Amino acid sequence: TDATYDPAGSVPASEALFARAKAVTPGGVNSPVRAFNAVGGTPRFIREAQGAWLTDVDGNTYVDLICSWGPMLLGHAHPEVLAAVTAAVARGTSYGTPTEPEVALAEEIVRRAPVEEVRFVSSGTEATMSAIRLARGFTGRDVVIKFAGCYHGHVDALLAAAGSGLATFAVPGTPGVPASSTELTLVLPYNDRSAVEKAFAEYGDRVACLITEASPGNMGIVPPEPGFNAFLAETCRSHGALFVSDEVMTGFRASAQGQWGLDGKVEGWTPDLVTFGKVMGGGFPAAAFGGRADIMRRLSPEGPVYQAGTLSGNPIATTAGLTTLRLATDEVYAHIGAAAETVKTAVGEALTTAGVAHTIQSTGTMFSVFFTDGPVRNFDDASRTDSAAYAAFFHAMLEHRVYLPPSAYETWFLSAAHDERAVQTILDALPAAAEAAA
Ligand code: PLP
Repeated sequence: TDATYDPAGSVPASEALFARAKAVTPGGVNSPVRAFNAVGGTPRFIREAQGAWLTDVDGNTYVDLICSWGPMLLGHAHPEVLAAVTAAVARGTSYGTPTEPEVALAEEIVRRAPVEEVRFVSSGTEATMSAIRLARGFTGRDVVIKFAGCYHGHVDALLAAAGSGLATFAVPGTPGVPASSTELTLVLPYNDRSAVEKAFAEYGDRVACLITEASPGNMGIVPPEPGFNAFLAETCRSHGALFVSDEVMTGFRASAQGQWGLDGKVEGWTPDLVTFGKVMGGGFPAAAFGGRADIMRRLSPEGPVYQAGTLSGNPIATTAGLTTLRLATDEVYAHIGAAAETVKTAVGEALTTAGVAHTIQSTGTMFSVFFTDGPVRNFDDASRTDSAAYAAFFHAMLEHRVYLPPSAYETWFLSAAHDERAVQTILDALPAAAEAAA
């Protein structure tokens, strides 16, 4: 991790790979944000990672603030996770039969989160897609409510933009989604109780579920205002709709019990269904949805609602997830929370000194930085963030060996491996980056 960063920003090996990638893959990447379109420049192709550090193919090292977009709670290449995974691989990688690790991981999730049963899938997208199907199958209703700025993966019905007027049905959010896929979706402004009341007043008896990020993190962190999730849970209940809490990002990340550990547990409400991903896969493709037993038992083969997957509950992925969760003690969350506080404070000071408008928002151990005055309560507010200022900030940080998410609308992720040296590297980079953003 002591390799030097090339201050000229010349990354010939990454550039060569990016050119090769673009010849055979759209945009040169397998998920759009990785391409640096929002910030410009060449994405660093990573050769290896250890703890809090990434090493690119040119030999530069960076403190990682992406952490694979959340999963790497313990840092990269954690020795105990590696040992468990290596032992599991030697026993064969997939059988398509039930295995012990998936039972143990389900038990661990049920122990921590407000769910009685879970079913495993391979991505967060599959989890939310399946949760919505189950909600529709359980209630016999068809309408789904979501919030603008909440991302639930690339599920057709949820890649939706608000229609004209508050309680009108949505329109496709991307070419390729037919209007028929979004015509049963309502998209509402986040943190807006009256919009929710209006939608339920109009369509209440048709609503299968309301799905929300437990604390939105895909427009930057926009926490629910106090009592908002409780209000959503109660509104759903009183209309016979299900409350689906998407904890793909916040689950086992915002706290040991996810966002629910920060609000639901304290306020005394429980979601009907919850989706999980990221941390619970320990860096492998694993995700899950779970909830009340009477709802989950409507799933095939116990009930009539079909859902399946060749690699669902894969023994390598579930071993990685189980080992990660077992190592994710209260001390781990306390460490990440403290490191986040240090970084947040320093970012705020540096941006204030440089005279850059900013708002830092957090939930539990997670935080993000908006380059705009706050507060940021919803997607409209988040859209005011100054993306050009962020791009300048991002590149200055990268030059100083800190790899931030290459988009202004993302959460910054730390890990248990972000020790004093990693945090100090971030702090040292901030003044120049803040100047660059000014
Ligand atoms: N839900 C939330 C809250 C997410 O943040 C994401 C991914 O970022 C997803 C769902 C989709 O998960 P995946 O990318 O594994 O399909």
